[in-house]
Amino acid sequence: MIMVRLRAETEFGLQFTPFFSSVDVDTHQLPPAGVIIPAGGTGTRFGQACPKQFLDLLGVPILVRSCRAFLELDLVRCLVVSAPAAYLEETIRLLHAHLTDPQVERLLITTGGATRQDSVRAGLAVLPATIDLVLVHDAARPLVDRATILRCLLGALEHGAVIAALPVKDTLKQVGVDGMVEATIDRSRLWQAQTPQAARRHLLEQAFAEAACRRLVGTDEASLLEAAGIPVRVVTGNERNDKITRPSDLRVAETLLAEERVMKIGHGFDAHRLVAGRKLILGGVTVDYHLGLDGHSDADVVSHALTDALLGALGAGDIGRHFPDSDPQYKGIDSLLLLEQVQRLAEQQGYCLGNADLTIVCQRPKLAPHLAVMQANLARCCRVEPEAINIKATTTEKMGYTGRGEGIACHAVVLLRAGHGYQ
Ligand code: MG
Repeated sequence: MIMVRLRAETEFGLQFTPFFSSVDVDTHQLPPAGVIIPAGGTGTRFGQACPKQFLDLLGVPILVRSCRAFLELDLVRCLVVSAPAAYLEETIRLLHAHLTDPQVERLLITTGGATRQDSVRAGLAVLPATIDLVLVHDAARPLVDRATILRCLLGALEHGAVIAALPVKDTLKQVGVDGMVEATIDRSRLWQAQTPQAARRHLLEQAFAEAACRRLVGTDEASLLEAAGIPVRVVTGNERNDKITRPSDLRVAETLLAEERVMKIGHGFDAHRLVAGRKLILGGVTVDYHLGLDGHSDADVVSHALTDALLGALGAGDIGRHFPDSDPQYKGIDSLLLLEQVQRLAEQQGYCLGNADLTIVCQRPKLAPHLAVMQANLARCCRVEPEAINIKATTTEKMGYTGRGEGIACHAVVLLRAGHGYQ
């Protein structure tokens, strides 16, 4: 049983009596909920080649983040994405690539219409009959939070129809075509609408049917409900739940997300066998020795351990998954290039290297004279100052496979920081 405690909605103050304050919710007691995400727009206002919902937000497309926020709740039994016809295949590809199998099982993708209203109608048409509560959410609001979603669901359950909204903060001016202020608007009763907008299914279907009869086009679902005479209540939205409409909104969303994830830690370990007829490459340095490390790539065990530590911190699997040794393009490759590629992945996800600590386990040859160059190489790839990377070398006093000189191993730990700390 999942119990959720929602915070008291004190921000309503004296203006408005909240319909619940602090409440425990057994989400299994709620009726089956469905979500419709109209993603039918082609986002030309954003000035990008692709619709804005496909743009990357710290490694995850905006649309995927919007869908995930709902699919992470078990009580959401079905989520319909109404996608532009021209981008249907791309929508399917992206969602399948980023969502888990159990999430994909609850996903339906349909062709959206020319307007938001058409897209929501298309979504309603394919929602399973068992769905009783419907939430409609903008594809371009990827930072919607669990508490706002639950407030909408509970609100719709109690009142029939609700929208997430926030009281208007700024003073509002009515301005004439000549640019002159005509009036100051009383904002005490003005709220800024967000999504989700949630309603009992039969109410939403009634509103859409009446709008179709009257050829009414609304800017959101609440306006259609209002036009049909169905009361709509506001529930508190969230300031983070802003719509991404301009490139600057994307930057703000990146900052908000990055702040959430301040640091990440990762560990990497690698070992390779010493054989005749191979160069010994460690941390990008070719070390003069009669044996070299065996492997598909240049077998640079130091770069591999650091690369694996970075991937570990990112929660992105391991080096073998990203650069399989069955792939001929990695045969004999300079492993520093692989490290650079993983560093770029970290940057895409909004992280930079804080520091790394490596221990090379090697009986022979002596590595002390080479450590400074290795440090400089790894620092350049990770776009940090050399001081951020510490490399130690140790023997195992002739114990074990490294002690017998059969191979060389390396351990690495890294700390990633949110942000762009590179030079
Ligand atoms: Mg390796």
